[in-house]
Formats: sequence, C-alpha cells, structure tokens
Amino acid sequence: MEGRIERIKKQLHSASYKLTPQREATLRVLLENEEDHLSAEDVYLLVKEKSPEIGLATVYRTLELLNELNVVDKINFGDGVSRYDLRQEGATHFHHHLVCIECGAVDEIKEDLLEDVEEIVERDWKFKVKDHRLTFHGICYRCHESEDDKETKKKAD
Ligand SMILES: [Zn+2]
Ligand SMILES: [Zn+2]
Ligand SMILES: [Zn+2]
Repeated sequence: MEGRIERIKKQLHSASYKLTPQREATLRVLLENEEDHLSAEDVYLLVKEKSPEIGLATVYRTLELLNELNVVDKINFGDGVSRYDLRQEGATHFHHHLVCIECGAVDEIKEDLLEDVEEIVERDWKFKVKDHRLTFHGICYRCHESEDDKETKKKAD
C-alpha cells in the first residue's frame, strides 16, 4: 500500500498538488476498502474514525480531485448515489460491475472483455473509444446458490 501511495503522491505532484495529511487520510480509506464502492459519506465516516478533525467538505474535495486525476472513478449504480472507485494501476479503461438486484452486492470484472465491441464502435461509428462504464444488473452467484438450496430442500421434503 505504501508503494501505491508513493506513486499517487507523485501523480499529485506532477499536477502541482500536495498530498496533505487530509488527502492522505482519505486516500488510505479508499485503499483499505478497495473492493467496496463507497459514497463520499461512507468515506467521510471511515476517515473520521481515525482523523476526527477532517470535515466532510474536505473529504468531498479530495475525492473530486482524485477523480479529476483519474485515481478514482465516480460511478452511480442507479440509486442516485455517487460512489468512488479506485482505478486499477495501469488500466486504461474502467472495470465492469455486476450489481445483484436481489442482495445489492457489487462484484467487479477486471478484464476489459470489450475489445471486439470497441473495434466495431471505432470502425462503424468512427468513434475513438477512450473509456466506458458497463454495469450488469442481475442475480449474483450467491443468490443463485441459495435459490438452488431452497429447490433441493423442497424436492427432499
Ligand atoms: Zn468497481
Ligand atoms: Zn475497454
Ligand atoms: Zn445477490
């Protein structure tokens, strides 16, 4: 994690920003919860546990700055809440999300998988693809499994 913070620090420096203690505290929360998709409020509550002096406005501004520098991506899963998601290092395109309509879980697909689609879009629409957001809505494997369990129990009865 320290190496990653160092690299993000350099990224901030090259855009003439400093990694202030407030920014670093916010960044650490994001890195510690990398698998989660936290809202500004969620990040703030976690930052506050360790640094009670940091306010929501500071956290919010830091998140916006990190978004501008492409360290995090902002994403909305249709519930009207903006969430902040760390971009994988070296990834040129954003990862995909699987949102479960039963339990609300959000899983990530790190592989791009869209090379063919991007090629068609670039060829047929003369559109240069720079990035994309792809969210699948459906039923996750965990919910499938519990459905299957119910089915087997029903049959056994
Ligand atoms: Zn994600
Ligand atoms: Zn792509
Ligand atoms: Zn589910």
